[in-house]
Amino acid sequence: MRASFRLGRIAGVPVGVNWSVLFIFALIAWGLSANQFPRSYPGRPTWAYVLAGLAAAVVFFVGLLAHEVSHAIVAKRNGLEVGAITLWLFGGVAELRGEASNPGAELRIAGVGPLVSLLLGLFFGGIAVVVALAGQGGLLLGALAWLAGINILLAVFNVLPAAPLDGGRLLRAAVWKATGDRTKASLVAARAGWILGALLVGLGLFQFLRGVGVGGLWLALIGWFLIGAPSWRSGRPGRAARCAGSGSPT
Ligand SMILES: [Zn+2]
Repeated sequence: MRASFRLGRIAGVPVGVNWSVLFIFALIAWGLSANQFPRSYPGRPTWAYVLAGLAAAVVFFVGLLAHEVSHAIVAKRNGLEVGAITLWLFGGVAELRGEASNPGAELRIAGVGPLVSLLLGLFFGGIAVVVALAGQGGLLLGALAWLAGINILLAVFNVLPAAPLDGGRLLRAAVWKATGDRTKASLVAARAGWILGALLVGLGLFQFLRGVGVGGLWLALIGWFLIGAPSWRSGRPGRAARCAGSGSPT
């Protein structure tokens, strides 16, 4: 994944954004400010919806970046080099150079990203509870609740045991630990990735044809991305920690 814009460096790793992020950013901000927020909190001025939608989308991408940076930092600590972090249409990619030396390192590198997303989700959820208890409802609460949900969803989706998701690397670490065979572990994770991808494509198309809307199409696209990832063809998990990060805004 090539970065179209460079944002700078975090923890010594170049961070960039692919142009496709603009598309998903706009889709999320639009989905929130034109649909979800007006439906849940009617009667507010348009600028308030737009502001809340934009702010929630920005914070979401900052959280996604934190997820990728955590992969990069733990990978470096475990002796791997990290080429770059790039955000794109389906989430983030941290390009890891080299291989984890043992299953434990693989587990730490893969596991920290979803853990960060989970903690962010709980953090936003906690603030949402405090805000609600303080009697402050409205758009702030709506944005916090959405951020809590989307980050927890991010954590859960990424631990699905299928390459090239983080969960695929976790599965690989587990099989590697159990059998002592790294190649076999890679194959198992890659096959699981292909199966999950095919399931998502099927489920997504089924939903789309039943008229559920773009959510189904999005699911199918993510499934296609899993199938198309280079991992299953080569039987290797790929060098990159790929994290599917963009939830459907609808
Ligand atoms: Zn990840």
